[in-house]
Amino acid sequence: MGYFRENVEKAKGYEPGFQPKQTDVIKLNTNENPYPPSPNVMKVLAEITPERLRRYPDPLGNEFRRAAAEVNNVEPDYIMCCNGGDELLSMAFRAFCDQNRPVAYPVPTYSLYPVLATLQNCEAIEIPFDDEFNLPPRLVGTGAALTIVCNPNAPTGSFVGVEEITSLADELDGVLLVDEAYVDFAEENCARLVRDFDNVIILRSMSKGYSLAGIRFGYAIAKPELIAGLMKVKDSYNVDAIAIAVATAAIKDQQYFKENVEKVKTERQELTEQLRALNFEVSSSFANFVLAKSSYPASEIYDKLIQRNIYVRYFDLLGLGDKLRITVGTRQQNEKLISALKEILSE
Ligand SMILES: *Cc1c(COP(=O)(O)O)cnc(C)c1O
Repeated sequence: MGYFRENVEKAKGYEPGFQPKQTDVIKLNTNENPYPPSPNVMKVLAEITPERLRRYPDPLGNEFRRAAAEVNNVEPDYIMCCNGGDELLSMAFRAFCDQNRPVAYPVPTYSLYPVLATLQNCEAIEIPFDDEFNLPPRLVGTGAALTIVCNPNAPTGSFVGVEEITSLADELDGVLLVDEAYVDFAEENCARLVRDFDNVIILRSMSKGYSLAGIRFGYAIAKPELIAGLMKVKDSYNVDAIAIAVATAAIKDQQYFKENVEKVKTERQELTEQLRALNFEVSSSFANFVLAKSSYPASEIYDKLIQRNIYVRYFDLLGLGDKLRITVGTRQQNEKLISALKEILSE
C-alpha cells in the first residue's frame, strides 16, 4: 500500500500559471492587477509592531468582516475571511462533498474545481456551456450537493446575468457557490442573493480587484447559518494578522479601488480592439483578462511570446486549444504585447 490515499495518489494537483524569477518580464499570465494596491495598505504595513506579530491574530478577522459587510450591504456575520478565495473553495468541498455528494459546474471553467473534487473523492459533474457561454439548463437536477458557477467565468471572461443565477439558486436543492473572483470588473454582482436564499455562497477575492494576490485574502458572503457551518472546517487561524490589517485597509479605500478598476476596464477595451485589429476573435470580457482566438496556432504564439519575455496563458484543454488568455496589463505592457504579436504574425 502506498503512503497516500488512493485519490491523492492519482491527483495531478493544480498547475498554477508560471511565475518567472526575472522581474523585467511582461507578465500577463495569472490575472494579477497591473497597478499597486491602495497607498493606505503600505501605511498599515509600515505600522505593524512586534507586539502584533508576537500574538495570534483574531481568529475571525472581525475588523475585516465589519469593513466588508459595509461595502456589501450585509451584517458582519454574513462574512467569513479566507486565506485567498481558493481556501473558500477548498472549505466548500470539505463541507459539502464526499463520495455520495457530487459537485457540478459548467465547463470550461476554473481548473482548480476538478482538482479539489479528486482530492475530496467526490464525483464532478461537468456540464458544457453552449457556444455563447449561457448557463446550461442541465445544471438543475444534477442532484449535486454543491454547484459552482464562476461569474465572470474564467478563462472565457463571459458573464451570466444575476436573474439567471437567481433562478438557478431557486431551483437547486444543494448549495450554490458563485465564484465572483473577477466580479470587481463586471457591472453587477450576486451579493444580494444571500438575503433571499439560504443556499447561496458568494466567493470574493482581494487578489484581482484590490491588487493583493501576494497576501492571500478572500472572503465568503452567505447567510450566518452557512457561515457558521463553514467555520467548522476552517483552520483556527486561517488569516494572519498582517493580511487582516492589509486587506481591511484595501477594502476601506473604495475610492482608490474604483479608480483602479476603471483603469483596468479602459485598458481591457483598448486591448480588445487592438487584438481584433490583428484578426484575433475576442469576445467581450467582464474580467481583467481577455480570451483571444487566433487562426495562427495559439501554442506557437505562446512559445514565441516567451522568447520575447512576454508571458500569457495557454490551456491545452477542450475548446481552448486555439485560444490565449491574456491578462490586461498597463497601457505600456499591452502595447509591447501587441507589437510582439505583430512581429510574430508577420514572420
Ligand atoms: C483568482 C481566483 C480565485 C481566488 O483566488 P485567490 O487568489 O485565492 O483569492 C477563485 N476563483 C477564480 C476563478 C480565480 O480566478
